[in-house]
Amino acid sequence: MGRSSAQSSSAKKLSSSLVNCEEDYHGLTKYVPESISYGAERLKREVKKGYELVMYHALPEHLKDNEFILKHYRSEWPLRASLASIFTIHNETLNIWTHLVGFFVFMGLTIYTAMMMPPVGELPGMMHRLPSLQQLRWQTVTDELTNIVASEPRKAISRWPFFVFLSGAMFCLLSSSVCHLLYCHSERMARFLLQLDYIGIAYLIAASFYPPVYYTFLCNPALRNTYLTGITCLGLLTVAVSLMPKFQTHQFRPFRAILFASMGISGIIPCVHKLALHWGEPAAQTTFYLEVTMGCLYGLGAVIYATRVPERWKPGHFDIAGHSHQLFHILVVAGALTHYRAGLLYLKWRDEQGCDVI
Ligand SMILES: [Zn+2]
Repeated sequence: MGRSSAQSSSAKKLSSSLVNCEEDYHGLTKYVPESISYGAERLKREVKKGYELVMYHALPEHLKDNEFILKHYRSEWPLRASLASIFTIHNETLNIWTHLVGFFVFMGLTIYTAMMMPPVGELPGMMHRLPSLQQLRWQTVTDELTNIVASEPRKAISRWPFFVFLSGAMFCLLSSSVCHLLYCHSERMARFLLQLDYIGIAYLIAASFYPPVYYTFLCNPALRNTYLTGITCLGLLTVAVSLMPKFQTHQFRPFRAILFASMGISGIIPCVHKLALHWGEPAAQTTFYLEVTMGCLYGLGAVIYATRVPERWKPGHFDIAGHSHQLFHILVVAGALTHYRAGLLYLKWRDEQGCDVI
């Protein structure tokens, strides 16, 4: 009996724990299928997405930048997929390539210029030591450099300001291209790359002052250093402002355009000063016209960037090709190339005339 009572008590305990288990199970089943179905749904979405392009309205808030571009967005893609997307078509493809091609053009110009130009103080006859480079088909560049060579300078002047400009152009174009390529990866990455992009723009603008200011005021070190210090400080101030998180938001687009444009517009001061000092000097006049052309190209670029024309007029029609940012990129490259040409003229001018002060 005792044994049977013990058995009955354990059976009761077992039955009660089974009931508890069943209750727990029912309690759990209320949630488990939900979480499983949520996970499955998410996975299905991921697989289905297969890194597909999405519409503007499906973007997370940090990727929403231009509501007039409606389709073909990459959204929160893994790094590898973002990198591979350089060879696929989406609404950033031409933004990436316009500046990547520009970067390679400037890299080629930098290498070519460095190899063709004599070191400071070297005689012009030494410049033809690289015959293979003369076979390059960049006729204009070759002619320009040959002119510099042929002009028999008294003494070759410092080249570093010209290379400061070239480094600014390369940094700006490359950082912009990388920004457009990987911006879609994550919010953290987007924030970092945008900062890099704005630093690149400020660097290019400040670096663009170096050749004109240095060579124009070659014979007046006090003026030259004042201008160079001024634009360097302005560039650093712009970089500091660019690093503020608010600066990157799309509400600040016009402010960004105004800030960079006013940095560029301040170049009018040394430009007018140059004309006042060297009126009648052909090199000063030609470089002035080239600088006006460059200013117009950059200015037009800033207006297009800020107003988002033409996609504003026909949203969705310029998603892949022809939207404002691509036009802005092309104008930036054109402006920088114009400035490169002006830089060569400055070198020719100063190599010919020199300055006893240096
Ligand atoms: Zn850009």
